[in-house]
Amino acid sequence: MINKYESARASSKRVVEILRNTDRLEEGDGDAEALTVTRGRVKYDEVCFSYPGAEDRTLEDVSFATDDGEFVGIVGSTGAGKSTLMKLLFRFYDADSGTVSIDGTDVTDVDAASLRDRIGYVSQDPFLFHGTVRENVAYATPSVSHEEVVTAAKRAGAHEFVQQLDDGYDTQIGERGATLSGGQRQRLAIARAIVDDPPILVFDEATSHVDNETEVEIQRSLLSMSEDRTVFAIAHRLSTVRSADRILVMDDGRLVEEGTHERLVERDGTYAKLWRIQTGEIAATRMGDPREVNR
Ligand code: ADP
Repeated sequence: MINKYESARASSKRVVEILRNTDRLEEGDGDAEALTVTRGRVKYDEVCFSYPGAEDRTLEDVSFATDDGEFVGIVGSTGAGKSTLMKLLFRFYDADSGTVSIDGTDVTDVDAASLRDRIGYVSQDPFLFHGTVRENVAYATPSVSHEEVVTAAKRAGAHEFVQQLDDGYDTQIGERGATLSGGQRQRLAIARAIVDDPPILVFDEATSHVDNETEVEIQRSLLSMSEDRTVFAIAHRLSTVRSADRILVMDDGRLVEEGTHERLVERDGTYAKLWRIQTGEIAATRMGDPREVNR
């Protein structure tokens, strides 16, 4: 009994800590409106940001604007600020200066819940729970029909492997999706994120190794997804965003280059260097001369 009591006490302490947290974000003048997305144009205007308590700026004067329903890749080395950039879109944090807007509406003027409702998010390590495939895809929007689940799975490139499972969409997938591969989990997470058809989707690519076939599948589903919505893909493998309409190259909190893959390779700057490293063209990195990476 004492053991149980102690562990419940420790857990409840953590829960109460969360419940007591107040929202740091201010929403407009108190009666913020719901966000309406028409074209899915996202604009960052001279955005600067530091994490609370941090000395250095994490984002320094970032400006860019996307066109209707683009597929936007975000690349750069670890710690460059890619995830932080997207956190401001969801308003997990607000910019210190500058504005982030969607279709001309400043995100700080809209209701934060509606913002997160209209932006789908696929994390690097999506959480799947013990339950069926269908329940996992539909859990945030239980009202969706089986057909809608299947449509989302098809677009996410998950339908084929789901069909091959013993009970199809009724297959139990185990705690944290243990019975599935990393790529399969990501594709189910994409299906979950698009099942209620959000006009903007943010995809954070898994850093862990995925096989070539899975990578191609994910690339294909991202492309198909971006046909009628804005897709931001934070990519660790540049090949994932090779066919993006726009690639944002981040370096140390700054947006250093922007353009299509071809334009950026031609430009022969940061992106071109990263590309050569990833395709193995800079042989020295493989031969174990890490200095070549920074040259
Ligand atoms: P990337 O996604 O490009 O790897 P991040 O946006 O995660 O980069 O991080 C950018 C910088 O911000 C890093 O220096 C990181 O240490 C710092 N950082 C990230 N999250 C936090 C946080 N919650 N609090 C303080 N610093 C953070």
